[in-house]
Amino acid sequence: MSVSNAEALASVGRQAAVCTNCDLCKTRTNVVFGEGNPDAPLMIVGEGPGETEDLTGRPFVGRAGALLDECLAENRITRKHVYITNIVKCRACTVEGTRKRNRPPTPQEIAACSPWINQQLEIIKPLVVLCIGSPSANALIHKNFKIMQERGKFFETPFAPLTLAALHPAYILRQHGQAFHDARATLVADIASARQKVIDLRNGAKSSAGSGLFQS
Ligand code: URA
Repeated sequence: MSVSNAEALASVGRQAAVCTNCDLCKTRTNVVFGEGNPDAPLMIVGEGPGETEDLTGRPFVGRAGALLDECLAENRITRKHVYITNIVKCRACTVEGTRKRNRPPTPQEIAACSPWINQQLEIIKPLVVLCIGSPSANALIHKNFKIMQERGKFFETPFAPLTLAALHPAYILRQHGQAFHDARATLVADIASARQKVIDLRNGAKSSAGSGLFQS
């Protein structure tokens, strides 16, 4: 009997929920495994949970997530169309007294977490992967990824026929005035090209995978 992607993801998610592969398990509230369409042709992979994600157990639900949702909506994409996750499933933070401060995940933490994202990619087999920010692009596209020069370009990777990277919405939110509008426009444009590649690959493959989403 074949197992659906939803069932396979749920099974891996149950294992990830009790993961102790690295010390982030000591400070996390929730493992943020990922959510969305288990058969998505487009998978979006960020860096790791922040405070709101850690508290809710859901990816991209803070301010950066709201901006990501806006940019997806401008491409007529909702969370039901895509699968959203991160390369690291637990919040990376430093603890100062009662306060937790976000920090980037270390290469060791990213490596320790890699079995989870690898299994998600193997189950979903997306046509296109959109890396959000350079840590994700470094992990999934190539080392020393130059986000400013290389964002928006498509790469063949072991994970999907096409993988690209876009600016992280948290970075975009730190820009002001015209710089904010320009950076935001690149995210909208990169999502648009990811969406178009899904359509092109589907048309090329004459496939109807993904229940009619992403039609032009
Ligand atoms: N930033 C990320 O990279 N991922 C999230 O889930 C939230 C913020």
